[in-house]
Amino acid sequence: MIVRAGILYDGSLNAPRKNVDLLIEDGVVRELRDAGGKCDHEAACVTPGLVNAHAHLEMSGEPDPMSAILAMPPLERMLRAVENAQKSLRAGVTTIREPGGSEAIAIRIRDAVNEGRLTGPRISAAGFILCMTGGHGWFIGREIDGPWDARKAVREQRKAGADCIKLIATGGVLTKGAVPGLAQLLEEEMRAACDEAHRHHMRVAAHAIGTQGIKDALRAGVDSIEHGHMLDDEALELFARTGAYLVPTLTAPTCIVEHAEKGGQPEYVVRKAREVSEHMLKNIRRAFEAGVKIAGGSDAGTPFNYHDAYAEEVILMQKLLGMTAQQALHAATATAAELIGLHRGVLEAGEPADLLLLDRDAGKDLTTLRAPRAVFKAGIRAGA
Ligand SMILES: [Zn+2]
Repeated sequence: MIVRAGILYDGSLNAPRKNVDLLIEDGVVRELRDAGGKCDHEAACVTPGLVNAHAHLEMSGEPDPMSAILAMPPLERMLRAVENAQKSLRAGVTTIREPGGSEAIAIRIRDAVNEGRLTGPRISAAGFILCMTGGHGWFIGREIDGPWDARKAVREQRKAGADCIKLIATGGVLTKGAVPGLAQLLEEEMRAACDEAHRHHMRVAAHAIGTQGIKDALRAGVDSIEHGHMLDDEALELFARTGAYLVPTLTAPTCIVEHAEKGGQPEYVVRKAREVSEHMLKNIRRAFEAGVKIAGGSDAGTPFNYHDAYAEEVILMQKLLGMTAQQALHAATATAAELIGLHRGVLEAGEPADLLLLDRDAGKDLTTLRAPRAVFKAGIRAGA
């Protein structure tokens, strides 16, 4: 199959190429060459498939996810997770990292997709999130207390088939009673979990909004900080020293605040999101300017933050962080893919043919990502 691009962004920060043909065989990009002769598909612009490093498949954007999850039987959660995985793919997200859910649902979907029984994006799944007893996200969590219990919980997720581990370092917005600014798991608990996970070549993500928790998690050895909204100078130094990634999830608080008045969200969710959003606007741009590796992830599934709207995160990265459109695209493809570790997220010979056909030059107008003309995963057209 030959796909012709008027302009090609390969996911890197290299200058885009004009009038290029991608030769695709067996789901893999074989060659990039100057356009010429016949082709099977043609588009004004081609980019890699998007990579969402933070998407909760069981949540569908309900105004009160905690109550929704608690009220929903596992079979219904499974069904919704399948629907959300397929929505993501049709909207151009060809890879996601599922940072914590219940009942190993995302793990089962990952396997079914890999076996060809279901269509869906590539999935890297964390299994249950690991939180302190009563901590943020306990309703989709394995509660841990103490370093040995942390190790055991990592071993349990690995046994269930998880690819990566998710720790809860601070409170969060969506859990009743959790305070986003306050630290939760102890540094020594997270250090034990990181050590155990890294022994098995599993990467570790930490949900961390408050300053103390961000720094505890970085010192404990996590590979990425999710949210990171209250980071300070010392945290920036720790990012530089450890090489950890930041997944800023800009869409999550933005959607909650946008629907504050008529959304039907619990009062505590709106109040906490407003607070978090203020810190986010001040701090995350500094992280980008300081050279922290920013990986795209939207926290899809949180209130009004839909799985088929990942383009909004890319657009917000440009708008709120001061990235160029190409830098935002790079964060939502190559950098996010590098963090997840399934593939490189770039369109180069030897890489999976995960790509979007777009009507306009994404480097000039990222809103074209909202409606890709076609989505291919491993050379197969999604939703066709
Ligand atoms: Zn999340």
